[in-house]
Amino acid sequence: AANHKTMDYQQLISEVYDEVRAMGLTGKVADYIPELAKVSGEHFGIALVDLQGNVFGAGDYKVPFSIQSISKVFTLTMVFHVFRSKLWSRVNVEPSGNPFNSIAQLEYEHGIPRNPFLNAGALVITDALTSKFENPIRCIREYIDELAGQHCVRINEEVMQSELRHAERNTAMAYFLKAYKNFDNDIQEVIKTYVSQCSIEMCCEELAKSVSFLANDGYSIFARREVLSESHTRRINALMLMCGFYDESGEFAFRVGLPGKSGVGGGVVALMPGKFSIAVWSPELNEKGNSTRAIKALEILTNRLKFSLF
Ligand code: GLN
Repeated sequence: AANHKTMDYQQLISEVYDEVRAMGLTGKVADYIPELAKVSGEHFGIALVDLQGNVFGAGDYKVPFSIQSISKVFTLTMVFHVFRSKLWSRVNVEPSGNPFNSIAQLEYEHGIPRNPFLNAGALVITDALTSKFENPIRCIREYIDELAGQHCVRINEEVMQSELRHAERNTAMAYFLKAYKNFDNDIQEVIKTYVSQCSIEMCCEELAKSVSFLANDGYSIFARREVLSESHTRRINALMLMCGFYDESGEFAFRVGLPGKSGVGGGVVALMPGKFSIAVWSPELNEKGNSTRAIKALEILTNRLKFSLF
């Protein structure tokens, strides 16, 4: 594989941006709450951050958006660091082949979610976080700020309140988990933390910086410390590769070949270990709830680079 110099990355993502823009891909902006439905589907931004900390951006890469399920990467990392392999007695590490909010599988698997990126798994993770940290929302915010090396985490109050008003399905899942004794804390409290983490707004540049440590064996050049051990980092990346895009994870691995994570706000983060992290945002989603333009952009990018994980 070619050893890309800093200049090449800027040219590359500018080209990818123009090309994907010109394709006129469409999709459907998330509308399960009115606040997300209001966002213009036209937005499109890409930010790539290399392991020297250079930032390469195109389009709306400085416009904040709702990170939604991308937050599950941060909470998982925090909890994994604390509970270590004990965590895997509460949540499995298998791809699900099911939509992100699927509840059916939970019964077959006796209250052990199939992986930590499904809503059910993420609720277990946020429950574990609640057991460990006094003020979990504040801890999540401080953690992400530190990873990005700047104050950047904002919680969108309107999105948060609206998510709270429409949390029936996630609340049902939490009760179900509790019935299987895989939920320790007050359900309303954990749901509030979960919807708050989903309501965080960040831009592509901030997101790419904050996941940079996953491309760098767990060492964050922005926080200037090892955030996660090298071996734990490899596990998080394996989970992102297998489960980061729900029932489209296989397709993403096939077309892009990088560990990544999507959110229904239209954001995607991905990383090339040893080289860079990247965040792409465009709100129009395909039927699996993943951003059409973001996935296409990453597919073209790894094709152009002639390297991925593989
Ligand atoms: N807030 C959303 C939910 O819990 C997040 C889902 C997602 O981004 N896939 O339903």
